[in-house]
Amino acid sequence: MNIESNKSLRPYNSFGFDINAEHFISVQNTESLAEALEWSKQHHYPVFILGGGSNCVFTRNVAGLVIHIAIPGIELPTATTIDHATATIKAGAGVNWHQLVIEALSRNLFGLENLALIPGCAGAAPIQNIGAYGTEIGDILTSVEVLNRKSGEQLTLSASDCDLGYRHSLFKTPAGSDFIVTAINLKLSRQDMPNIQYKALQQTLQSRGIENPGCQQVFDTVCEIRQAKLPDPTRLGNAGSFFKNPVISRQQLDAILKINEKLPHFPQANDNFKVPAAWLIDQAGWKGHRSGPVGVHKAQALVLVNHGGGNGQQIAILAEQIKKDILKRFGVTLEREPVLY
Ligand SMILES: Cc1cc2nc3c(=O)[nH]c(=O)nc-3n(C[C@H](O)[C@H](O)[C@H](O)COP(=O)(O)OP(=O)(O)OC[C@H]3O[C@@H](n4cnc5c(N)ncnc54)[C@H](O)[C@@H]3O)c2cc1C
Repeated sequence: MNIESNKSLRPYNSFGFDINAEHFISVQNTESLAEALEWSKQHHYPVFILGGGSNCVFTRNVAGLVIHIAIPGIELPTATTIDHATATIKAGAGVNWHQLVIEALSRNLFGLENLALIPGCAGAAPIQNIGAYGTEIGDILTSVEVLNRKSGEQLTLSASDCDLGYRHSLFKTPAGSDFIVTAINLKLSRQDMPNIQYKALQQTLQSRGIENPGCQQVFDTVCEIRQAKLPDPTRLGNAGSFFKNPVISRQQLDAILKINEKLPHFPQANDNFKVPAAWLIDQAGWKGHRSGPVGVHKAQALVLVNHGGGNGQQIAILAEQIKKDILKRFGVTLEREPVLY
């Protein structure tokens, strides 16, 4: 086993924070993962599971063992997993998500194109049920292969077992926190019929004169929108959206509409409404704000950034300040999206 000590996690977190793992190992298969877990048990070390580090805010060095999940491999459909309309593919938890999207599209397997350019690994995708441009992984996920870190048992959870919701899953709850994802299985479509329900996507396609897009055109458009809108973590450290879009009651909505009638709002179940956290943060004047080396992106109020030399504590403090301000101004509690360590 190649366990390294005092390993810098700077290349392993998209904020680019300069923190260390007490011990670190990159695992390429389930057997090595099990061995690494056994080693941590023998030494009574806590374990932190790391994919691409694009949804983590490290505020300090990581104690114990960081296990970097690097399980490779994309299994393409076989005669038993393909029919005239759909095909199932399996991806190792360490497969780069965007490469998986490209690979599927190149094989005329459709359904992942709206999720193009989301950083990170396939194994982390179900953890917060990644979503973008009207699609969530839950729409195509059939099952997740996991190793139970306590019992060592390997099992396959169906998508419904994973209890996927908006940026939520079983894995974020105490009942699922022992599971380490080793592979995911996705049911993709063989019909080139993209999902263009998402308004901003529709509008961009229309503005380019694309009336009946195929999945490749949707992929290209999603990539263009994202590249124009979101800072590239290799140039400006960030973890994408820092807050979830809050769901508020009609009473809360009416109160905010009284202050600003332009608040965008989207009906949800039980007379609730989803509102864009970015809009609230922007209205409160945080866009472009800078606190030393960290700040709020100048074009994207939802993205907190490390301009260079910042640390996780500074990001956590800034996030708390924004949260308090939004609560005071609008009576809305923002919830953090990335994992804080
Ligand atoms: C620029 C940018 C844009 C983004 N855009 C989006 C977006 O549009 N939509 C979206 O949903 N997210 C987005 N994100 C967030 C992030 O890309 C996703 O959450 C992604 O799935 C995280 O993958 P990761 O491999 O980097 O996970 P990590 O950051 O390494 O881990 C995240 C969490 O998952 C756990 N974890 C990781 N791998 C496993 C595993 N195999 N088994 C069990 N637990 C595991 C970790 O312990 C941690 O708690 C964006 C981030 C960035 C930086």
